Amino acid sequence: MFDLNKANHSKEQGSSLSDEERSYYLNAMGIQPWFSKFEQIEEVIPVEETSQAIEEIAEPRIIENKLPTQNVSQLDWQALQKTISQCQLCELHTTRTQTVFGVGNPNADLLIVGEAPGADEDAKGEPFVGRAGQLLDRMLKAIDLDRQQIFIANVLKCRPPNNRNPHTSEIVCCDPYLQRQIELVQPKLILALGRIAAHHLLLSQDSLGALRKRQHSYNGIPLVVSYHPAYLLRQPADKRKSWEDLLKIKNSLKNLV
Ligand code: URA
Repeated sequence: MFDLNKANHSKEQGSSLSDEERSYYLNAMGIQPWFSKFEQIEEVIPVEETSQAIEEIAEPRIIENKLPTQNVSQLDWQALQKTISQCQLCELHTTRTQTVFGVGNPNADLLIVGEAPGADEDAKGEPFVGRAGQLLDRMLKAIDLDRQQIFIANVLKCRPPNNRNPHTSEIVCCDPYLQRQIELVQPKLILALGRIAAHHLLLSQDSLGALRKRQHSYNGIPLVVSYHPAYLLRQPADKRKSWEDLLKIKNSLKNLV
């Protein structure tokens, strides 16, 4: 069962949304026209089947330490934060304002993995605080979650200049940090947002559209793939599919023991 207390949230802070409130947030996400269809979707996704099926396909993933000189796999949370803040393993340290470690509950059931900080995140030192982040907040709110209950991290901890796609070498340098974050948080479910996060975590090159239809696991942790909120801002028509993914997550968290 998803534990709100564990996330240090009072009932008042993390209370369920009324239909009216949910409708408000769905509307804010720009998906209000499909609201009645969403209700049907919620009914046809059998709750037990969702989490059971996810568990059945869970397979261990071999972790390869790509930076053997670094003892990242031994670091505790505080040491990991410090190491990341001082990282100079790739060129991105020369252009960043600051590193973006991640935010939220370090014992969260749900870990969200995005791509990389943008300009707003680089300025604030927190992931998903720009327009895409505001949409992410509304998406989470629609399934009764907020960013204090979950943990949000990125594949890259530094902003690529001009928001270009991460280079493979940068992803390789940052990979032990994300791996260690996942080991320390021990989430019960991972949500990979967008192609970069999905391809990296799943070692796959399949299209996002194909990946989001399948159930995955990362080192035995069930993993759901969905659209990146920045993509949804450009392609609002796909918010309906994103809502289906959110319901999958909501149902899976509901069924955690
Ligand atoms: N996009 C991401 O993938 N991560 C962020 O932190 C912000 C935008």
